[in-house]
Amino acid sequence: MSFGFSSYPWRLASAFLGLLVTGILGNSTLQASSAPILIRGGSIFTMNSKQPWAQALVIRGNRIEMVGSEAEARIAAGSQAEEIDLKGGICLPGFIDGHNHLAMGAITKRGVSVAGLEGKAAILSKIRTWVAQQPKEGLLLGYGWMPDSFKSGSPRREWLDEITGDRPMLILSADAHDMWFNTAAMKACGLTDQTPDPEPGKQYYRRDDQGWPTGHAIEGAASLPMLVRLGAFGPEAARESQKLTLARAPAQGITSYFEAGVLIGETSDAAAPVYEQLIEDDRAGKLPVRIVGTVWTRSPDDDPKKIAARLKEWNRKYASEHLKISVCKMWSDGTLMSRGALLLDPFCDEPHVRGKMTFPPEKIEAVVDAVQQAGFDMHIHTDADGSVRTVLDVLEKVRQRRGGGFRHTIAHNSLVHPEDVARFAALGVIANVTPLWGTDYNGSYRTIYTKLLGAARMEERLFPYGDLVRSGAVVTYGADIPGVDVDEIPPLIQIEAAVTRKRPGYPKDLPLVARQRVSVEDALRAYTVHGAYQLRMEKEVGSLEKGKKADLVVLGRNIFEESPETIHTIPVVLTMMDGRLTHDARP
Ligand SMILES: [Zn+2]
Repeated sequence: MSFGFSSYPWRLASAFLGLLVTGILGNSTLQASSAPILIRGGSIFTMNSKQPWAQALVIRGNRIEMVGSEAEARIAAGSQAEEIDLKGGICLPGFIDGHNHLAMGAITKRGVSVAGLEGKAAILSKIRTWVAQQPKEGLLLGYGWMPDSFKSGSPRREWLDEITGDRPMLILSADAHDMWFNTAAMKACGLTDQTPDPEPGKQYYRRDDQGWPTGHAIEGAASLPMLVRLGAFGPEAARESQKLTLARAPAQGITSYFEAGVLIGETSDAAAPVYEQLIEDDRAGKLPVRIVGTVWTRSPDDDPKKIAARLKEWNRKYASEHLKISVCKMWSDGTLMSRGALLLDPFCDEPHVRGKMTFPPEKIEAVVDAVQQAGFDMHIHTDADGSVRTVLDVLEKVRQRRGGGFRHTIAHNSLVHPEDVARFAALGVIANVTPLWGTDYNGSYRTIYTKLLGAARMEERLFPYGDLVRSGAVVTYGADIPGVDVDEIPPLIQIEAAVTRKRPGYPKDLPLVARQRVSVEDALRAYTVHGAYQLRMEKEVGSLEKGKKADLVVLGRNIFEESPETIHTIPVVLTMMDGRLTHDARP
């Protein structure tokens, strides 16, 4: 996972998507229609290989009753049926996001966005306009700057004071490693010239000649206490952030997602109140998507047996109709881009350095072993080719010892050696990827990776999403906020990126490793049947078939007839989860 910032043309339009939503955090309760529903008037692409296309389908309660011709469907539906006219659009299975953090990923993306702005004047002007529109009291938040957004490399608190007066304001950087704060925030947190730095030179406060903080906190140990103190981090803040993510998911066609880690404390246990709240939502009929959640481990010091036991406990304890916790998420490495992952060959610009993993192989093996023995799957964050090979070796060993039947996923796969690409299918390991990163993301990925890897290695191994599909592996997609911005979560944006390897909205981009492009059908498969398979839900959702749950999305234009560069502009007209309308933008 990397952290990005950007300013795409669709951002303004998507700011309004949230307004159309019913469900979570709103007052309305989701209900299935009592009359049967007949869907007709366009194309239906089922993702069922035995019957890929149909004219019509009928829903009764929360299940699909039949899929077929319009004449047959009319008879099955009867005269009382409620009709949904596709008006020439297309009906697809609901999108299943296989790796995201919708329960809290936007916690660092609240308030005013200054992403993509250059220079003090432009950034302060945006903040000034935004603050003027806010309620007169309370904490002010923002995000999206980078140290190089300012000539001085470091923003100052008095620049904000002039706009905010005595109200505290915190503005996180795009990757959330840095934080800019004003004088009111400094005072409210009791920061003075006497406050020691948490880790001098690494995690610290920038200071003036007298030792007073100038308004720039570097790294989490410096910023997190301030965020917590001012109420900008924790279960309540996570809840608030869901308005930017979960609440909008149905308007983006999402009906299910994999929660790849709720990170609001030192350990996985801190996530408990977040899951409790989501279950409460579900019981009140207000959860707009199905969720598969996780118990996570980020440290090799965690005890594998305890992790497996906690997963078993949460699987029993936190379960409702549309939410289950059944996967262990592990961060086996960091990111290739920040040199925190293991390479098979040294970095181009550092010929003796290959990076390293967070977990040693034997520790990964112990966790996989314990989790698999407890009857659950792993989802392993793994970014670079050396790390991927290490994890595949571990999964192969466990498989030899304990047999198959698991559905472990390796997520990210930014760099994979061609010899390892073929091993995913052979070992039954699922590959999860974020298509937007397989482009010149933020207009900087091509430059950054060329510097780190060189052109030949990029061509051979970088974001091998097409090679993975052609190798026969089960490939799934996920948008992975905060690795992308809130407006980059929609599956149609990710699908366009997978099909073009260009940034949506930038048709003149050069495709990043052009041979890794995939077909629209392959991209849809990743977001539907394959997503369902990863989450062990393929018997209930993922395709439009008789007897399955009515999870579907209606797009305003046929995605198969669309020019690849405009896929992200296709309107999501309607979304249904479990027979209930979760999004309805019909005119
Ligand atoms: Zn993630």
